[in-house]
Amino acid sequence: MTKRIGILTSGGDAQGMNAAVRAVVRTALDRGVDVYAIYEGYQGLVDDGEYIRKMDWDSVGGILQLGGTVIGSARCEAFRTREGRRRAAKNLIKAGIDGLIVIGGDGSLTGANLFRQEWPELMQELLAAKEITVEEAAEYPNFSIVGLVGSIDNDFSGTDMTIGADSALHRITEAVDAITSTAASHQRTFVVKVMGRNCGYLALMGALATGADWVLIPEAPPDVENWQDVLAERLKAGRKAGRRDSIVILAEGARDRNGNYIGSSDVAHALEEKLNEEVRVTVLGHVQRGGRPSAFDRNLSTLMGYEAVNSILSAKPEDEPVVIGIRNNRMTRLPMMESVKKTQAVAEAISAGDYERAMSLRSSSFKDAFNTFKTMVRALPRPVDPSKKRFRIAVMNAGAPAPGMNTAGRAAIRLGLDAGHTMLGVRNGFEGLIENDVMEMNWMSVNGWASSGGSVLGTTRRVPKGRDLYAIARVIEDRRIDALLIIGGWNAYESAFILLKERGNFPSFNIPMICLPASINNNLPGSEFSIGADTALNSITDAVDKIKQSAVATRRVFVVEVMGHYCGYLALMGGMATGAERVYMHEEGIKLRDLQTDVENLLKGFETGKRLGLMIRNENANPVYTTDFICSLFEEEGGDVFDVRPAILGHLQQGGDPSPFDRIQATRLSRMCLEYLIDQCEKKNFDSAFIGMQNGRIFFHDMRDFDRMIDAEHQRPKDQWWLELKGIATLLAKQGPNAE
Ligand code: ADP
Repeated sequence: MTKRIGILTSGGDAQGMNAAVRAVVRTALDRGVDVYAIYEGYQGLVDDGEYIRKMDWDSVGGILQLGGTVIGSARCEAFRTREGRRRAAKNLIKAGIDGLIVIGGDGSLTGANLFRQEWPELMQELLAAKEITVEEAAEYPNFSIVGLVGSIDNDFSGTDMTIGADSALHRITEAVDAITSTAASHQRTFVVKVMGRNCGYLALMGALATGADWVLIPEAPPDVENWQDVLAERLKAGRKAGRRDSIVILAEGARDRNGNYIGSSDVAHALEEKLNEEVRVTVLGHVQRGGRPSAFDRNLSTLMGYEAVNSILSAKPEDEPVVIGIRNNRMTRLPMMESVKKTQAVAEAISAGDYERAMSLRSSSFKDAFNTFKTMVRALPRPVDPSKKRFRIAVMNAGAPAPGMNTAGRAAIRLGLDAGHTMLGVRNGFEGLIENDVMEMNWMSVNGWASSGGSVLGTTRRVPKGRDLYAIARVIEDRRIDALLIIGGWNAYESAFILLKERGNFPSFNIPMICLPASINNNLPGSEFSIGADTALNSITDAVDKIKQSAVATRRVFVVEVMGHYCGYLALMGGMATGAERVYMHEEGIKLRDLQTDVENLLKGFETGKRLGLMIRNENANPVYTTDFICSLFEEEGGDVFDVRPAILGHLQQGGDPSPFDRIQATRLSRMCLEYLIDQCEKKNFDSAFIGMQNGRIFFHDMRDFDRMIDAEHQRPKDQWWLELKGIATLLAKQGPNAE
């Protein structure tokens, strides 16, 4: 078994690398394995000794929220040579390291793979040169390597996400949102160039998330020679429809059909000429690599780091090296060599002009997003074809506001209008439906909704009952509503379920209805994620990062209360992303003896140099042991050793502009909901459903299953996938052995 692990970060840095380093170091220490950081990537491995430093629990304290990599990264020419790799092997042996975790892009992992393959020969060469002893050569016949993909480009085959891609998407979205507002003021066209090398992920998802007008990506060059004319026509049509700004997103690797790179100035010049207006170019550059990691990247890296140690400890030295990836929302181990080859195959297909193959090698969510984007940009109000059956589809928000509701509403309304249907907007949730507060939507009524938080349509928590049902039935008849899309949380689902059950009494409820999960609480059945939860998690991490900074000069414990009703998702995932040492949630309850242990641990910690305590409590974790109670208890017991402050984050969690993930998923789900409703209408069916993402796929659940899938008393699903992550979060945030 591996006894000493080395860890290094290599190649381009990516936000989240630190969280991975922290997870690797602490998981290894917890397993009783020594762990060494190799500073400056492969360069530190090739150069002698001093770059290889033993890590303890506290050496990775306070780095979870930092961008870049604290152990340094480098490009290393020497490692590309046999001589360099031989020196690296020797240094590892001299340090007694028999397993290596490499965090880097496909270049770094190619190097790792080669190193692993050559290992037995390197041993022979070192032995022949008498640089290692016979015993050493016998002790290290093979060498274990595990890779983590740190790359903002999200370009690695076999994993749905790479470390840093989500944070880069945050930077892109923030920048394009800002550009959109200035572009709109001056009615300007902007070309925004984003990173990604041979991968169009950042450009495509950035375009989808910001509602951009066009995207140019390496995998799908424009299919016509005169793409400049087509693009100009498209932008003109958008302006004619009322848009004040035009945004084109260009991936750095984008090419035309003939394989010629398309530069930002090529696009700008062509558009200036054809549109006869000024076109501005913004090259986002290294901003995309910078800044703090998003909540998703912190948690992804944490889980990957944990899995990497498990993998290296369970591997036999002769095993093929693996890469840790995430597939369908679960950790997975991929064969390193094969994955590197597949990754390189995309680049090769692109340079050979085989774009179909390049696209086929991308993940299904990439292809799906590309289709959604193409549909969204194609969508323009067109003259209605009188021969086709048109439907009247109502869209509403219900329940508490969740960031991403507007994005979902916009997608459904534009796509519905594009297909010639009449799209109705219901104001203020079921209250509006009861009061006939319904309006016809047009193309421009949803302008700017892609990026705005809150609910422009308005939303209330009202759940219809008694006479409300008569009123709703009348409105559905009056307005000739053929189908209903309800974007919302618990109250939305409850209400839809009531309408379904009342179909016998109210024939007009016999229309297709679908619920789209939108709630920061992430407490809806049939979906691992609901729209808004990712934004709320990012709001929590932003707030807690600041709270932690505020305490640098004092010895203080914060008890941070987060939302979620009875669902501990935000508490646990927020806790994991901020390194909270304790998470209180209703699913586990709180016992007095737990609080006693927590106090004892805090006292021990502060007495041995700890400066900050961080506990996260779900708002309904326990009715008696409230946030105030816990604070008072800790304050009293903490005496002079530490003081305690509550921080109730409150409604800031429901606000804010939606995160890229929430926007992308909102658009994707909304498109699918609309397709579902139209399909039902065409078939004269009136099924009622709720949509969800599970194991990376989209499911339509029969609304009749709603009550079977929930814990009604606590308003959460019976099955909560994320509960299994509790052990990892707690392990990594616990106090180091120094504190004991
Ligand atoms: P990334 O890992 O982000 O793709 P690079 O491609 O620059 O970045 O690779 C980082 C480092 O990994 C290189 O500087 C080099 O030390 C090592 N490396 C990359 N490719 C190889 C290779 N084919 N053989 C050996 N080492 C390599």
